[in-house]
Amino acid sequence: MFRSSSQKKRIFATMNSIEDNYRHKGMRKQLVDLLRSEGIGDEKVLSAINAVPRHVFLDSSFVEIAYSDQAFPIGSGQTISQPRTVALQTELLQVEQGMKVLEIGTGSGYQACVLAAMGAKVFTIERQRNLYFKTKEILEALPFRVKTFLGDGFEGLPTYAPFDRIIVTAGAPDIPSILMGQLKTGGIMVIPMDNENGDGQTMLRLTKTSDGSLKREEFGAFKFVPMLTGTGND
Ligand code: SAH
Repeated sequence: MFRSSSQKKRIFATMNSIEDNYRHKGMRKQLVDLLRSEGIGDEKVLSAINAVPRHVFLDSSFVEIAYSDQAFPIGSGQTISQPRTVALQTELLQVEQGMKVLEIGTGSGYQACVLAAMGAKVFTIERQRNLYFKTKEILEALPFRVKTFLGDGFEGLPTYAPFDRIIVTAGAPDIPSILMGQLKTGGIMVIPMDNENGDGQTMLRLTKTSDGSLKREEFGAFKFVPMLTGTGND
């Protein structure tokens, strides 16, 4: 197949950056120990984090930062979530092998890979065109089962619904009713919802019970980039 030189260069850069050596593995182990000491208790979540090379999702000069517990810019004005936030959202989601999980806000693709490493079938939606294509290329070079979609996460994925789990990784103004409609009975949605002070979000776990009501639990304050409607490059 014909490839332009810029395409070749990009593919080479991707292959180069997926190297995962002993140094990376050592730093990742330290990150896992840190998360455990910070209260992440689900060993399945910790081993998924141990299995996903986080440095691959950042530009190659940021290896040290990849394995520190901090959020980081990934271009297009977006951020890769802090490892502790990824670990907490994953833990709250109670993912089991083979479950269908919908993620809103692909961003770097890191959270999606952590879910795939838990054994989930992951469907992830990103609204930003540039980021969508950049991340898709990285995900295609990795051995995790993630299906990517360019679109507005508020609409969900009616063709693939219903889902066992839904995880939102951008700050939501309210509980998106279309997404709730795509969640199975007994299913769980983890979503950071804008608080009343307008200075961040409260992490919510919503469980759709069999009598049709919603069980709502709160897990503290967070700061996410906002969930926006439509697709675009803004
Ligand atoms: N889960 C990501 C972090 C996401 S940052 C990771 O692991 O790196 C939030 C992402 O949500 C951004 O990339 C932003 O563009 C995207 N986003 C915001 N509103 C959205 C919407 N309505 N539908 C899909 N993606 C959205």
